[in-house]
Amino acid sequence: MAISTKVFYSLDELKSHLKTHKKSFYHSSQTSTVIPYDRLETIFKDEEIIVGDLSKLPSSMSLTPEKRLLVKGAVSWQEAKSYLKGFGRNLMTSPTEQLALISAGVATSCTGERCYSFGTMRSQVKRLKYLDFNGEEKELKSTDILPIETPSLKDYQNDFKKYQTLKNAPFPRMEKAIDLMIGTEGQLGIVTEVEIETTEDFDINFVFILLPRWEENIAPHLEIHQKVQNLREKLVSVELLDSNCMNYLKDDEKLGVNQDVIFLEIRSEHFEDVYENFLSNLEHTTIDQVFEITESKFHHIRAAVPRAIFEVNSQMGVVKKGTDVQVHPDKFKELLNFYRSAKDIGIRYCLFGHFGDAHLHFNYMPEKTQAAKCDEEFIKLYDEVLKWEGSPFAEHGIGMLKQPYIKKFYSQTEKNFFGEIKGMLDPHNQFFPTGFMSAKL
Ligand SMILES: Cc1cc2nc3c(=O)[nH]c(=O)nc-3n(C[C@H](O)[C@H](O)[C@H](O)COP(=O)(O)OP(=O)(O)OC[C@H]3O[C@@H](n4cnc5c(N)ncnc54)[C@H](O)[C@@H]3O)c2cc1C
Repeated sequence: MAISTKVFYSLDELKSHLKTHKKSFYHSSQTSTVIPYDRLETIFKDEEIIVGDLSKLPSSMSLTPEKRLLVKGAVSWQEAKSYLKGFGRNLMTSPTEQLALISAGVATSCTGERCYSFGTMRSQVKRLKYLDFNGEEKELKSTDILPIETPSLKDYQNDFKKYQTLKNAPFPRMEKAIDLMIGTEGQLGIVTEVEIETTEDFDINFVFILLPRWEENIAPHLEIHQKVQNLREKLVSVELLDSNCMNYLKDDEKLGVNQDVIFLEIRSEHFEDVYENFLSNLEHTTIDQVFEITESKFHHIRAAVPRAIFEVNSQMGVVKKGTDVQVHPDKFKELLNFYRSAKDIGIRYCLFGHFGDAHLHFNYMPEKTQAAKCDEEFIKLYDEVLKWEGSPFAEHGIGMLKQPYIKKFYSQTEKNFFGEIKGMLDPHNQFFPTGFMSAKL
């Protein structure tokens, strides 16, 4: 059975399609790292499924009197940022991959560098609209409580409590009305409109710090990680690219010599304070290891590394072998120590990510024959993450590729709840029928 594809050029076309209740998987910019877009034919070989492209839906943007951004249809983070610049405003949180769409970001509960200072995108969504299984447009507000009740809901919310302070838990947060669409990966409806808070486009100083390689000494990393926990009002982001990441950059882009790099976005109004009281006062790092960098170079380098790694894995014919683990700050040392042992299996690797949030992506770049060995390490890691009460997939979601690993994070309560909510909001199982809510995990 082959998949068929359908591009939607208008909301009316999409509404008519939804009324047919045909099983469909809808996508936007296809930047998700947990959906194997190049292998959908194989994945859906036993299903009759329509792959619906939402990236051509008509789009519009406006700024509300409260200075919130209202986006309708297919708007990317990049487009939104340049639109807001004209009003002296900026987004608070956005993924590193700026070509992704905002509506899809709601579905994946995306996070990004600035999440460290501004919190999750979920906390910035004020209102959204979605199309339900009958193609009817419905509105959800952040000020309303969850508009459904199911037998397992209370126990589900109780299970969620230990993940409350993490960006995304192993299963979607279900507290407010908007949560029906946030992080549910398009399994309950299609997001069509989003109203999000914005911030003033204030001045920022971009700085990087050179550190010894984490493989050899993690004391400097741990000191910085611990100290930045109290600097969220002065710093906007704290990101890491390790020395191995530099191999994926052009020679003139490389920073340091066999050294790890921590990037800081510092609010200019606090620059002196941060320089004097934080950067100049580190026990394990001297001030001559701190350098300024331009904004464009920072963004270019930060995005170039994950893109290159994605490319390398595709060229090797292997599915991306990377982690997306966030832990509570007190477990950060354990996480780094785990990666220190995971690096020793004789496969190329690198480490990067949202350092300030204890959320790092450890990536192997295996040959095809080494892929299974990486999976063995990741299984060990997820056992630890479960014990640490951390989040195994804190921003990229579960999609299809992470389903084999998520099982152990679900009790019968989560499985029951998924069945109940799918039954209520997607009675024909027409939205992403192989997603984590429907899969027999
Ligand atoms: C180099 C790189 C860096 C990245 N960095 C980050 C990062 O920092 N933070 C982060 O969170 N992610 C990151 N990602 C992952 C990815 O960009 C995000 O998951 C993003 O939200 C996906 O958007 P998209 O438009 O590509 O969605 P798609 O890949 O097209 O779809 C992703 C999922 O959303 C669902 N979906 C799409 N559109 C809708 C809709 N309108 N309504 C309902 N469901 C929908 C799809 O069914 C699918 O399950 C990165 C990816 C890459 C390649």
